[in-house]
Amino acid sequence: MKPYVPTATIVLRTSLIAGFILAAPAIASANPSFPRGLGFYFDPLRLAALIASFIGWVKLCAWVDEDAAHYKIPAVFWNSLLLVNGIAGFLLIWGLPVFWLATLFFWSTVLAGSYWYICKRNRRAAVEDQLFNREHFQRLVQKYFRRTKTKAKLTITDGVPVKFISRSVSGEVEDADRVDRVQQSKGYRAAQELIYNALERRATDIHLEPTANEMAVRLRIDGMMINITPYNRAMGDGVVNVFKVLCNLDITERRKPQDGSFSAHVKNRVVEFRVATAGSVVGEKLVMRVLDTAAQLADLGQVGMTESMQTEVRDIIARPHGLFLVCGPTGSGKSTTLYACLHEIDRFSQNIITVENPVEYRLDGVTQIEINPKAGKTFASELRSILRQDPDVILIGEIRDKETAEIACQAAQTGHLVFSTVHANDSVTAIARMIDLGVPPFMLSSALQAVLAQRLVRMLCKSCRVRMKPSAETLKKLKIDPDAVRYTYRVFDSAEDREDDADAGTEEVDICEACGGAGYFKRTGIFELLVLNEKIRELIRENPNIPEIRRVATEHSLKTLFEDGARLVIEGATSIQELLRVSK
Ligand SMILES: [Zn+2]
Repeated sequence: MKPYVPTATIVLRTSLIAGFILAAPAIASANPSFPRGLGFYFDPLRLAALIASFIGWVKLCAWVDEDAAHYKIPAVFWNSLLLVNGIAGFLLIWGLPVFWLATLFFWSTVLAGSYWYICKRNRRAAVEDQLFNREHFQRLVQKYFRRTKTKAKLTITDGVPVKFISRSVSGEVEDADRVDRVQQSKGYRAAQELIYNALERRATDIHLEPTANEMAVRLRIDGMMINITPYNRAMGDGVVNVFKVLCNLDITERRKPQDGSFSAHVKNRVVEFRVATAGSVVGEKLVMRVLDTAAQLADLGQVGMTESMQTEVRDIIARPHGLFLVCGPTGSGKSTTLYACLHEIDRFSQNIITVENPVEYRLDGVTQIEINPKAGKTFASELRSILRQDPDVILIGEIRDKETAEIACQAAQTGHLVFSTVHANDSVTAIARMIDLGVPPFMLSSALQAVLAQRLVRMLCKSCRVRMKPSAETLKKLKIDPDAVRYTYRVFDSAEDREDDADAGTEEVDICEACGGAGYFKRTGIFELLVLNEKIRELIRENPNIPEIRRVATEHSLKTLFEDGARLVIEGATSIQELLRVSK
C-alpha cells in the first residue's frame, strides 16, 4: 500500500519548488524590476510582504485541503485551482513593475478562488459552520465585542408600558371607571409588571395559584410551565382582584368559577386576555390566556411544513369541497395551521366563515363568529345558521360532538370546503374518533379528504445549544442513516457545560440571553399527513378497522410524526429528547 501523503504537504512541496523555479532566474539575472530599496539590496518591507503573502497562500491551500476532506468535497480540483492562482499571482509580482499593485492582484486571484470554494462548501456545512454569511459575522461580533454574557434579568424602569383597557376587543365599550378604580388599588403596579414580563417572555398563559402563604406565579412558554417569583399572599390576592375588576367579575365571589376578559395596550399593540377564576381550598386561583390579536398569521412554510408537504396540502385546499381535519392534543398549533390554510385561499372571491371558541386570529375578508355555549350559541347551532349564508369555505374550531361532526360531513358533501380539528393523537386515530362520535362510516368516507396530525417541538436555542455525537443506537431508533448525520445537538446544561470553574462556586449562573436559560426558543410543527385514497375510503366504508387502515396508509408512504421530526434533529433544529417527548 502506498503511504498516505496529505495533499496539503504536496501543495506545500510543489509550491516551494515552484517558488524556487520562479525565484532562480530573478536572482540569476538580477532583474532590476525585482523589489529593491534604497541602500538595501532588497527592500525589507517588500520582502516581508512577499514572504507573508507566500505563507498566507500556503496556509490557505492547507486549510482548503483539510476542509474539503472534512466535507468530502473532491480536493484535487480546488488544490490545483489555488496552486495555479498562486503561481499566476507570483508571476505577476515578478513581472509587474509596480510591486504593491501586483501584490493586490496576487491576493485578488487567490481570494477569488478561495471564495468560490467557500460558496461550494457552505452548501454542505451546517448553518453554524458556514462562513462569510450573516450568522458568521454575528458570531464574530459576539465573540470579540460582547465577550461577557449579560444576565437575563428583566428590570423594569419607572412606568411599565402597560395600559389596561377594561373591555375585551370584541366586547362592549370601555369602562374608564373600572380602570380608575384599579389604579388606586394595591397590586396594580405588580399586575402591570406581571403582564409586561409575561409578554416579554412570550408566555401564552399566566397562572396565579394560591398556597397557604404565597401566590405562585407560573407562565406557559413554548408549551412548558415555568415558575417565576411568587408574590406574598396579600399582594397576590391584590393582583387577582385587579384582574377581576378589569374583567368586571364579582370580587366578593371567591368560590364559584367566573370568567371574563380585558385588554391591554402594551408597547403599541393591543393584547387580549381571557380570564377564568375558580375557588380552591386555600383561596381563589386565576388563569389567563393571552390572545395576541396583532399576532402575524403564518403561512404553510412558517408553521414548519416541508416543500413537498406544502404542495400536498395546497392540492387538498384547492379542491372545491370536502373535509380537511387537523388533529393533535390541546396546544399543538392546530388553529395556527388551519389559519395558514385559510391564508392560501382567495378571501375576497370566496365566502369564508369561521366558528370558533375563542377567535384567535383576526383575518380581513373572513366572517368570524365566536360561540358562546352559555348563551346557547353552540358549534352546531351556529353552523346551521351559517349554512344558510351560502359559504364556500367553513372553518369549525373543533368537532367534539355528534351533531357538529355530522353537520361538518354533510356540508363537505354538499359543495363546501370544511376545515376543522379533532382531538386525536394521530391521523388514523382521528378517523376512529369521528366514527366514535357517531358519524356513519359511509358519510365520513365520502366527505373526508385528508387528516393532518401535528405537534409542536421546541427549537434549540442557537446561542447555547451543544453539539454532540449521537450514539449508533439512538440513530437506529430515529431511523436515521448514520452516514447522513455527523452530529446532533442537545440543550445546554448549566451544571455540565459551565465554561470555567471560577463560576462553579458562585450562586449566580450566567444565563443565555437569547433563550433566558430555557435552552429552547420558539417552536415549530411536525406533521403526519394522511390523504385518503380509494383503498382507504373503501376500508372506512366497509370495515373501519384502524390497524388495517394504518397498514394501508403506511404502504402508501404515510410518514409518521416521528419520521417527520427526525429531519429537525438532523438539521440541528431540535434535540432527540425533545422529539421523543412530543411524539410519544
Ligand atoms: Zn440559549
